[in-house]
Parts: sequence; structure tokens; C-alpha cells
Amino acid sequence: MKYVSTRGEAPELDFEDALLTGLARDGGLYVPAVWPRLSEAQIAGFAGKSYVEVAQEVIEPFVGGMISSAELRAMLAQAYATFDHRAVAPLRQVGDNDWVLELFHGPTLAFKDVAMQILARLFDHALKDKGRRLTIVGATSGDTGSAAIEAFRGRDAIDIFIIHPKGRVSEVQRRQMTTVPDANVHNIAIDGSFDDCQALVKAMFNDMSFRDDVGLAGVNSINWGRVMAQIVYYFTAAVALGAPARKVSFSVPTGNFGDIFAGYVAREMGLPIEKLLVATNVNDILARALNTGRYDTGSVTPTISPSMDIQVSSNFERLLFDLYGRKGEDVTRLMQQLQQSGGFGIGEAELAKARACFLAASADEAATKATLQSSFADTGTLIDPHTAVGLAVAQKLRGDAAIPMITLGTAHPAKFAAPVEAATGVAPQLPERMADILDREERLEDLPNDLAAIKDFIRARSRVCTDEMGA
Ligand SMILES: *Cc1c(COP(=O)(O)O)cnc(C)c1O
Repeated sequence: MKYVSTRGEAPELDFEDALLTGLARDGGLYVPAVWPRLSEAQIAGFAGKSYVEVAQEVIEPFVGGMISSAELRAMLAQAYATFDHRAVAPLRQVGDNDWVLELFHGPTLAFKDVAMQILARLFDHALKDKGRRLTIVGATSGDTGSAAIEAFRGRDAIDIFIIHPKGRVSEVQRRQMTTVPDANVHNIAIDGSFDDCQALVKAMFNDMSFRDDVGLAGVNSINWGRVMAQIVYYFTAAVALGAPARKVSFSVPTGNFGDIFAGYVAREMGLPIEKLLVATNVNDILARALNTGRYDTGSVTPTISPSMDIQVSSNFERLLFDLYGRKGEDVTRLMQQLQQSGGFGIGEAELAKARACFLAASADEAATKATLQSSFADTGTLIDPHTAVGLAVAQKLRGDAAIPMITLGTAHPAKFAAPVEAATGVAPQLPERMADILDREERLEDLPNDLAAIKDFIRARSRVCTDEMGA
């Protein structure tokens, strides 16, 4: 499989180079040159198979012969052995024909683990092939950073630096990042917002000499490997509820459009998905874009579902690329408008194409809290605020009651304990293995919101700069 950039200018890459490159050098995102199709018989054959077996069949076409079947199988088995549920991503029934797909049974209690655990192993494999070392730098509002640190800790060929906004991540999120003792893990807290963190990382990627000096790589959801790994659970969930003989719909709590784009890819690969529901909180740029045709950025409003407090949804560019017939020059034009004037209009034909697949709505704070409450009252099980946004939107946009509606459960309620307890009066409990996290020693560096200072910090610690490979 070859990978092309959504802006049409950067060189085509193979799977491993696309994985290690992250952001394309023309500013675009890498996507497979074509979407592989699975036959109805192959999809039907997923019934009764394990998560790892299905993952192998879904992922294999994308890695394009760069990893042997046996090696891929071993990596997948190791990645998902870190989950504390045998099914990896179990379905829980919450209504007549309504389900929650629990994606939070991994090491850091959010769905980011599903992709990050396999991504780290794919990175290791690619770096061994090439005899190289890399420096990962990422910005986080909490979940990506903790999942990435857990997945990449202790790996020989990789140093990881995660930048978070000081005081603006939950205590559990911060401690999941800062209590990891491995020497290749570096936490940076800056005085600023999550957007400031993202801007710093973006500036590092746009500085080609820094990028080359430290061997910069990214693991946020612009990395194709993350989207790829997330395609798998759309298949396992749909097949468990009767696909391909029966259609299903998904409601996806959405921020950066990575998770729901994986659902779109599953549909392109042949999975009969009726509709994908884009569920946003009051930071509703995507819901507005799909409902009005205008993608206009505003300012971010903090909510109780902070992992979706986002104004620029990077992965939306991958959808635009397909909507515009894979013409990189059209995507480049829209992205230039976005940069110059803070927004762009989606063409009529392109919008119609999007609406054939996606529906969108937002849930405000009151609706999210009401859903936290009603869901607990109805089922006796606590959910997290992001999942609540998904369920609220699923109720709002529910079409044909005969089509199963699957809401993605993106985080464990204990990861966002304060708003869950406030809404329900019940404090969610951390799993046993994490019960002592509040007592473990923390390690982090406070730095100013200053690009030069952060670059110096990274240069001084990245083993790409301080060691010779093999020395
Ligand atoms: C990251 C995250 C989301 C949003 O996912 P995207 O892929 O950015 O759309 C939703 N819920 C939780 C808990 C998350 O961590």
C-alpha cells in the first residue's frame, strides 16, 4: 500500500515511512492511495473470531507486506494483552436496541490505548528495520499523553516528550503521565492552554532543521497508524450485532475527528454502516460544518468533556480529501482559507456526499449532565462525560429503531470522576491496579510557554542528539 498526502505535494510513502513521518512535509495528512475492500463473506467470517484475529485481517491490507503475518499477529497479541477485558472492546446493552462499545479497558482508561498500544509496537518494528532512533513530541489535553507514555515507556529507540497545559488536566490524567519512572519519558507542563501546547508542537514540526536534528515524530491523531488501529472495533461491534446481514449506526463522541474517521474508513471497506453520528459538546465546529456547510473556528469553551474541547479538527482534512474527489489542490485551497480567514465553505455537492454518511449534533453541558444521571438511573452503571455526549446525541438523532445504535464509550468514568460524581452522587472507582496512583511519586518539568526554551530542553535530552546509534 502506498500513502499519499491530502495536499497532493509531498512524496508518496510506504506504510512504515508514513507511520514515522506523521505530518506530511506539504502540511497535509497521509492517507492510503486506495481504500481496501473486504468481501461480505470475509466480514461475515469475523463472527466468533477474537479481537486480535479480526484486527489482523482488517490491518493487514494497510501494512502492505512490510510486516509478516506472524509478526503482526504477535504485535497485536501483545498490544491487546495489556487490556483487562478478554473481549478488548466489549458491548454493553443500555436500551432496547442501544449499546455502548466500551473502549476503556486499556492501561490508561481511554480509547486512545486501543491505537497507542499497537502504534508503539509498529514504531519499534519500523525503527529496527531502519536502524534508526526517534524523538516523539506531543501535546495533550490529557488522554493522548497518558496513553502514549504508557505505550512508549522503556522503548530503546524512542524518547518521548509530552507537553500539557499546567493545571488544566485532571489529577488522574496528570498522574498517569508523571508517575511513569522510565528514563525515556519526559513530561513538560507549560503555562498556557492546550491550544498553546499544540501550537508549540506544530512550530517544531514546521522547523525542518529541528525536525531532522531530533528525528521528530508525532503520535497525535494525524498519525495514520492511530486511525488504522481504530477501524477494527467498528468491525467487531457491527458483526457482533448482526453485520453484514444487518446494518448498524454509530454515535461517536468527537473532537479531532480521528475516531469517527476510522468509522468512515470501515464503511468504505465494505462494512454496512447506516449512519455515523458526529457527537460534539458545545465546541461544535464539526456539527455546524455538517449542518450549515460552513467550517468556522471560534474560541474554545471548557466543558466537563475536555478531550473534545477543540476548535480545529485536524482529521476532518482526511474527509475533505475524499469529498473533493481526492484533489489535493482543492484541500490546499480550503486550508489556506482556514488559515487566512478562520473558516471556509464546503461545496454543495461535497456536503451532500458527507450527509449521506454523517449526521451531526451537539449536546450542551445540561444535556450531558442529564444523560450522566439518566444513564445511571436506567442501567445502574456509571458512564463518563464524553460517552454521555455520544448517548445524548444518539437519542436526539435516533432514526429507524430497528437499526442497532452503538455509542462509543471513549473513557472510563473514574478518569473524569469529579463531573460524574457531581451529576450522579456516586464516586466512580479506579480499577484495583491503579488504586495507588495518588501516592506514586511524580516527575515533571515546568517550562514557560516559549518555543526556544522547549526546543533546548528536548535537544539536551533526546538520545538522537546525545548518543550515537549503536555506541
Ligand atoms: C480523544 C477523545 C475523544 C475524541 O476523539 P477524536 O478522535 O479526537 O475525535 C473523545 N473522548 C475521549 C475520552 C477522548 O480521549
